[in-house]
Amino acid sequence: MSKYVGSGKYIVIKIIVLLIITSSLLGCYQKIDKTTEKSVINPDEEKKDINGIIKKETEHFIFNYKIYDKKAVDDLAKILEENYERIVNDIKPTIEPSTIKVYVYPSIDEFHKAVYKPDASDGFVGYTLSATEFAIVSPNNPGNVHNYEDILKTAVHEFTHIVVGIVRMPPRWLNESIALYEAE
Ligand SMILES: [Zn+2]
Repeated sequence: MSKYVGSGKYIVIKIIVLLIITSSLLGCYQKIDKTTEKSVINPDEEKKDINGIIKKETEHFIFNYKIYDKKAVDDLAKILEENYERIVNDIKPTIEPSTIKVYVYPSIDEFHKAVYKPDASDGFVGYTLSATEFAIVSPNNPGNVHNYEDILKTAVHEFTHIVVGIVRMPPRWLNESIALYEAE
């Protein structure tokens, strides 16, 4: 009888020990879960580089911008992709344009400094940098001369310069006329 009581006590102790071990393991799992939850951050945040520049890729463009211009960049991407085929078909470059990088600057001042024209007027809002890149001010901060919609059209204008440049660089007056026509 005393033997049974003894082993009964032993079993109770065993169960208590197991319960403690199990609960401490559950505690660990909960901790791990919480850590995992915390590491799931906004995907846009994850694409940020060390300077806070975010990259957005669409079919034909890669946009570099800062987080507060996300919506404006979505609008830039939309108007550029919507006009892409039409402009390429109009100008018929000998080769398809490669992916175009678009640098979106948060303010007129930052844009002017970036393109080495710090004393430019507010009317200067977009600039073709190379055969595959153009810089533009954010539609959110268009300056005193232009508005949000004007900057979207400026993106189409600069893109047109890039496509025209693939064919052969025409005289400046003609290049401007084509870009004005396509962004109208
Ligand atoms: Zn132009």
